[in-house]
Amino acid sequence: MRHIAIVGSGPAGYYTAEAAQKQWGDDVNIDIFDMLPVPYGLIRFGVAPDHQSIKGVTRRYEQTALSENVRFVGNIKVGQDVSVAELQELYDAVILATGAPRDRAIDLPGDHLGNVFGSAGFVGWYNGHPEFASLNPDLTGQTAVVIGMGNVALDVTRILAKTRDEFAGSDIVGHALDTLMGSNIQRIVILGRRGPHQIMMTPKELGELGHLSRAAPRVDPHDLPELDEDAMLEPGIRKSVTHLRSFAAIPESHRADLPLEVEFDFFAAPRGLIGEGNVRAISVERTRIEVGRAVGTGEFYEIPADLVVSCIGYQTSPIAGVPFDERAGRFANDQGRILPGLYCVGWARRGPSGTIGTNRPDGFGVIELIAQDMPQAGRKAGRPGFDALAAERSLDIVTFRDWKRIEEAEQARARDDAPREKFVDVGDMIRAIGQ
Ligand code: NAP
Repeated sequence: MRHIAIVGSGPAGYYTAEAAQKQWGDDVNIDIFDMLPVPYGLIRFGVAPDHQSIKGVTRRYEQTALSENVRFVGNIKVGQDVSVAELQELYDAVILATGAPRDRAIDLPGDHLGNVFGSAGFVGWYNGHPEFASLNPDLTGQTAVVIGMGNVALDVTRILAKTRDEFAGSDIVGHALDTLMGSNIQRIVILGRRGPHQIMMTPKELGELGHLSRAAPRVDPHDLPELDEDAMLEPGIRKSVTHLRSFAAIPESHRADLPLEVEFDFFAAPRGLIGEGNVRAISVERTRIEVGRAVGTGEFYEIPADLVVSCIGYQTSPIAGVPFDERAGRFANDQGRILPGLYCVGWARRGPSGTIGTNRPDGFGVIELIAQDMPQAGRKAGRPGFDALAAERSLDIVTFRDWKRIEEAEQARARDDAPREKFVDVGDMIRAIGQ
């Protein structure tokens, strides 16, 4: 029997478990650890609350989770409750599928000011991540600046822009919905240091911005390259640029009756945040593109900013004793191999890019490596060994059955038009199991 420990119960974790089952059938036991009592990582805490169809992928993970040889071991902090070295003693292979939950630092003068957030915190706040539930952003100002032109910037902009009706069917947490409905924000500026041809936004997600009830996105036609230059783009980005062109063509008369401005500011590199206590403005330098890179032109201007959310990418959290590539912001690895018996997969292996589905081949890839490295089953203690250690340390494991009770309680307390009202406090999650 092979014993596999997967650390992290998001998409990469569950696809890897699925791959291990396909590879070894009944001849493998898989324990999936998570620091929280609830599974699914990015799906629960990263995917936007108004993208419920994407969240539907958890039905597939649940099938894996309910198999005899797969176990969810929630509420266990690897690196704290148990070390990676201890897991390696107990399991033939330990696979880190911990994603990239930390912000890449924006590193600007003034980034310590109040009401300046990274997307990890801001997204975690409206998605009910226990670490960020009490973020309490102040939405009483008039202008929000969202830094970055990726899909996370789009998520944040959309959530700031939507009306109560547009949240129907979403599982945005109650505290965020209340704050958003009291928002006074009248202008959202999306700041990109490069141009329309360099955006990271994908067409479907960018297209959604054109269907907001309170705003019609504004793109300055002067920022758009000549139409025939789109031909050299690969099809996905070409489609995104087509959306930008259609936004640029929206007549001003159409915007006149709409209460919210959503503007794209291209060739605009943030250089500093200004304010005392809370942020008040952002200093921006105009750029031009040279060989694909944004280069400052020396022309500076200020945009008023009462809220700043920087959506410039993520990094993996280091774990004590695991080699880490600081520059890349992920575990130091060769194709997924970190050290003998220790592997990584998903964003923890390759950084934060691609779709949720990209993690499936990743999972199958790492299991293939393990099969090559370990053609025979080892003699590790596996699950009973971990249970003995957990008992010795009085660790309070949350099982998948426990999670289903939490889920039922979340569904029972949902608003009329919501699939669930998430618990945002670990203590409340644990109490829900006992009820
Ligand atoms: P991303 O796609 O890498 O975009 C990051 C953006 O931040 C880029 O526009 C980048 O500009 C900009 N940026 C980076 N450093 C900057 C700096 N110092 N100053 C100003 N701008 C800076 O990252 P993401 O939006 O966090 O998304 C992460 C992954 O999750 C992506 O694969 C994304 O597609 C995926 N995702 C998907 C969805 C969905 O609905 N399908 C939703 C959310 C996220 P440069 O290009 O100039 O570096």
